[in-house]
Amino acid sequence: MNTFRPVCWYCGETYEAEPIYTCRRCKGTLDIRYEYKEIFGKAYFEPLSASAGSDIWRFRELLPIWPNRKAVTLGEGGTPLIRTHNILNIANNQSLWLKLESVNPTLAFKDRPLAVAMTAAAQFGLNEVVCASTGNTGVAAAAYAARAGLRCTIYVPEGTPEEKRAAMEQYGAVLHTVKGHYSDAYKVAEEMALERQAFNLTSTYMNPYAVEGNKTVAYELAFQLGKVPDWIIVPIGAGPLLSGIYKGFKEMQLAGFIDKLPRMAGVQAEGCAPIVKAFHNGEAGVQPWSDPVQTIASGIADPLLTYPADGTRTLSVIRESKGIALAIADAELHRYRKLLAEREGVLAELSSVTAVAAAAHMQQTGLLEQNATIVSIVTGHGLKDMSAAINHTKGSVL
Ligand SMILES: *Cc1c(COP(=O)(O)O)cnc(C)c1O
Ligand SMILES: [Zn+2]
Repeated sequence: MNTFRPVCWYCGETYEAEPIYTCRRCKGTLDIRYEYKEIFGKAYFEPLSASAGSDIWRFRELLPIWPNRKAVTLGEGGTPLIRTHNILNIANNQSLWLKLESVNPTLAFKDRPLAVAMTAAAQFGLNEVVCASTGNTGVAAAAYAARAGLRCTIYVPEGTPEEKRAAMEQYGAVLHTVKGHYSDAYKVAEEMALERQAFNLTSTYMNPYAVEGNKTVAYELAFQLGKVPDWIIVPIGAGPLLSGIYKGFKEMQLAGFIDKLPRMAGVQAEGCAPIVKAFHNGEAGVQPWSDPVQTIASGIADPLLTYPADGTRTLSVIRESKGIALAIADAELHRYRKLLAEREGVLAELSSVTAVAAAAHMQQTGLLEQNATIVSIVTGHGLKDMSAAINHTKGSVL
């Protein structure tokens, strides 16, 4: 029997497990709901917590996959959580931890959603996948499509790092560069997926199956820390990673495994920050980013042009968690990337460095309470956009 089904995030309409992206009644994006009573009937998380360090599939009852289906996997998940010692002047018994999603099989957290989505594609008998990507989704899609033996076509905006393009091609994906930014690529991928009957893996709230993979970060954090962190700081494009993590904690609460929820901090780059703007202006909904998209944090540069509701969905999760949204300037990203590498031995993608720079800002502005446990999600590895660092330091050769 099926223990999950797609449900409209907005109007609650329910659907059968099938390749579906939006509610037929209100056009809203979807969420996956489970038969929680059945799954949590006997203790669920407690027995699992003993077996730390394996991949996301130990949580498969909470992933939208039919029983007895073979997972498309490269061993994603089970990433390290390390405590920082030198990057911030941590006082008052605060602690800052880094969740190293940068050591997933394709060096970014996107392996979690893409492993789930590719397994769903196989479950639905599809043989072709399509996505728009700022880079990391495309690399993960290409790798997992290769693993599953599916055809993969990827649309990336101009300015996508060479490292990511080259990786997609090595995995055998067909790569197209779309003039403009991420929202332009989003539109082309949407049309092509429809035309070719391909599964659309675009990393917004487009694919409800993919989003579920992000929950596994939450389960791992609770096991690794042995408690719920006070703050989780997440770099956000449209925000499914942040929402997925929060959903994972809510599920653990529902199961009676934890008794509080973390506050979620969503971080964007100043040069493309539609969600932060709405948060600061106290607006109910997110507006598309109408200024030019100007940032080196290419992995999170999403102006949400034709799908601002995705930003509103993320904003509502941030508010529900009593969290915040904040933006970081590009100059800070180069500085903190270097500091993080020098002081902690962690090389992060510029988009990911936002989460560490944000921790510093939150500390300096007194947002972090005494004894707070803070986790910054290092979403991607520095090698994924190393050319940006090389270009940045070129001027300093003597
Ligand atoms: C995709 C991505 C993000 C943003 O995640 P969303 O779930 O799309 O908001 C953050 N950092 C990196 C490195 C990414 O690739
Ligand atoms: Zn609906």
